[in-house]
Parts: sequence; structure tokens; C-alpha cells
Amino acid sequence: MKFEPTLECAKQLDANDPLKQYRSKFLFPQHNGREVVYFTGNSLGLQPTSTQSYIQQELNDWAKFGVEGHFLAKNPWMHYHEFLTEKMAKIVGGKNSEVVMMNQLTVNLHLLMVSFYRPTKQRYKILCEAKAFPSDQYALQSQVKFHGLNPKDALIEIAPREGEYHVRHEDIYEAIEKNKESLALIMIGGVNYFSGQVFDLKSITEAGHKAGAVVGFDLAHGAGNIHLELHNWNVDFACWCSYKYLNSGPGSVAGAFVHEKHHKNTELPLFAGWWGTKKETRFLMKPEFEPIESAERWQLSNAPVFAMAACKASLDVFDEVGMQKLIEKSKDLTEYLEYIVAEVNKVKNNCLQIITPKENRGCQISIVANGYGKPLYNKLIENGVIPDWREPNVIRCAPVPLYNNFEDIYRFGEILKALL
Ligand SMILES: *Cc1c(COP(=O)(O)O)cnc(C)c1O
Repeated sequence: MKFEPTLECAKQLDANDPLKQYRSKFLFPQHNGREVVYFTGNSLGLQPTSTQSYIQQELNDWAKFGVEGHFLAKNPWMHYHEFLTEKMAKIVGGKNSEVVMMNQLTVNLHLLMVSFYRPTKQRYKILCEAKAFPSDQYALQSQVKFHGLNPKDALIEIAPREGEYHVRHEDIYEAIEKNKESLALIMIGGVNYFSGQVFDLKSITEAGHKAGAVVGFDLAHGAGNIHLELHNWNVDFACWCSYKYLNSGPGSVAGAFVHEKHHKNTELPLFAGWWGTKKETRFLMKPEFEPIESAERWQLSNAPVFAMAACKASLDVFDEVGMQKLIEKSKDLTEYLEYIVAEVNKVKNNCLQIITPKENRGCQISIVANGYGKPLYNKLIENGVIPDWREPNVIRCAPVPLYNNFEDIYRFGEILKALL
């Protein structure tokens, strides 16, 4: 693909984009009468135009049927989570039995760790990222303390080397090797939220298993962004939210994956609720918990239908497009963004530094603007660009292939040049 730093080139690239019609299926915030440059789909994805009607359907059925809507609604609420499973499973590369939409991300992380972090006297350590997303840090620390252990001793944090911004894979493998006698669990984010680095989940899983550890991933920034094959990679468990790349609305229902090799193991400890017991006997209201032999076993409660309706609206769009095409476009968009940043650098003293590794990234590019702090970010917002700011000095930009286009990136470059 030939890039030029011109509006004509950006428009041409957009005209040739096979997914161009999808932009009109999303609602963009406006700034001075035109669409903002929305680069925060990695934080809160935009609203699909179809979402409202999906939620309205459930409101109508609630009005019409009351409690009978559990069976009589067009999409019976009793099974609502099942409407999401197959489409979600395709996105993360799981079998249908391995994926369930339920709760929220941090809740799922805890529920899964209850089953998969089972420290013993000898094996009790968790390998994780240094400066992981704070909620993950709190979850890991509190799980460790819950088992009466000390996070300082039990958590092995892998950090970038001095002066570097992303973690070297060789350092991860070395830490696994070094702790192979005491490692219980590897739990890292599939994509680092700060640097945008994508980890080699297949190899990390292999290395973890070889050392005798369980391997789980937080895919908050991975689901709907990068290629995933959770089943084939033999990942033990994973969780993710649906409001970032998956456009399901603020705080919407989250996802969980449990590999099928664990489904028959009904001895796994878990925190149980009635939605995890067998459907055939659930309404006999028996005192015995009869575990469903699938990821659904980890469900606690009946389906939050409105959140799931929003999720369904978005997953239907994903299903129509498919991850493969999204990833192809994602590569082109991020390359163009990288190119435009380099063009800005030519006239602005190379003040912009991309800290996201070129060979391991999804659609997020994290930029350090040397010599400029948060005021630059504020100015971008004032000028109709919405990236986000992460302390201490990073501007994250995620051109999302479903709805961003090359012209957004061109406009970003022009606005940035004017501000620097
Ligand atoms: C966004 C994000 C969260 C947010 O957790 P919620 O439970 O959805 O509030 C947690 N962890 C990571 C890695 C994230 O990117």
C-alpha cells in the first residue's frame, strides 16, 4: 500500500476499503458540527446504530409479557446468554462450550481464579505484568491474601527493562524457568493496556504448562482486536469485557473462557450460583448443585438482558464482518497512523515516540510526546480528537477497523502538527 500524507491519499484509501460501509453503522460524537476523530474504541467502543432497537425489543417484550417474557419474548430471556455464545466464541477462538457471557470483567477474573489459582505450600506464585491494569493488580493481590499469602512473595512481576517500554518475551520465559518449582499460575493481559504490546499467548501458554503452571489471560484489550485461538493454544481460562473493542456499552456484560479439558472435572472448587447448575433440573429447586459441564458452570445469576441485548447488537456486526477482515484493515490503519506520525516528526523535531512494538501490536498505538505533557492531550480534545491519556506521559490512539478510517488518521496528523 502506497501512503502519502495528503487528504487525497486518505480518501483514496477509504474508497478502496472493503469495510467502509460499516462506519455508518456507528454513532459518532460530534464536535463543531462534524464527527470527532474517535481513537478511544479501546476504552469505550462506539454505539452501533442497531443497539437501540435491540434494547427496545426487550423493553417491549417486558411490557407485553411481564415475567412470561422469560419464555415468550422474541428472544426468551431464560436463555439470553446463549444467543451471544457462538458469535463470541468465534472472536476469541473458543468452542461454544468454552465461552460464556456473564458478570463483568473483574468479577470473572475473581471467579476463575477461585477455580484456577489453587496455591500449595510449594506452588503458590503468580507470574504477572508489572503495572498491569490496576483492577487486575488488586484482584491478584487480594486473591493471594485470601489464601493467607503475601503478595510481595507470591507475585512475580515482569517489567520492561530499564529505559524500555515493553516487556521482552525472553524475560518472561526466563522468569517462568527460574520459578518453575513454585509457579502456580501465569495471569497476564493479552495486550498491555498502556504500551499496546501484544503478547505471544501461544508460546507463553506452552512455557507455563511445561513448568507445571495454569495459564490464564485478561483479554480486555484483546477481544475484538487481535487474532485469538484460545482453544487451540490450550489456554486454561480467560476473561474480557465487552465495552472496549466489542462496543456493547458502558459496563456491559463480560466474557469468560474455560478450556474444555476442565469441563468434566466437577471437583474443581468454584463459587456457585443457580445459573451454573444443570438446566434440566434447575427449576426443581433442589439443594444439590449439579455442575453444567461447560463454561456455563461458572455463571451465578440469570442473564442481565438489557446489557446482553446491547452486546448482541454489536456481536451481530462482528459476525457479519469476521475477525480476519477486521485484522487486515487494522494492520493498514495502524501502519498509516505510524506513517503519519513519522511525517509529523519530520517537521517537529522528532518529538513523537511510538512505544508500541511494531511486530507485536493490535490497533492501538501509544505515543510519548517528548517535551509535551497533558496539555497537548487537552488541546487535542478541544480540537475534536478523542485519544486518551495515561499517566505519566502517554497518548493512546486506537484507530478501530470497524468504524475508523484513513481520513481520521490524516486529520489527526494535521491537528497534531498545528498543536505541536
Ligand atoms: C478495562 C480493563 C479492566 C476493567 O475492569 P472492569 O471489571 O470491566 O471494570 C480490567 N482489566 C483490564 C486489563 C482492562 O483493560
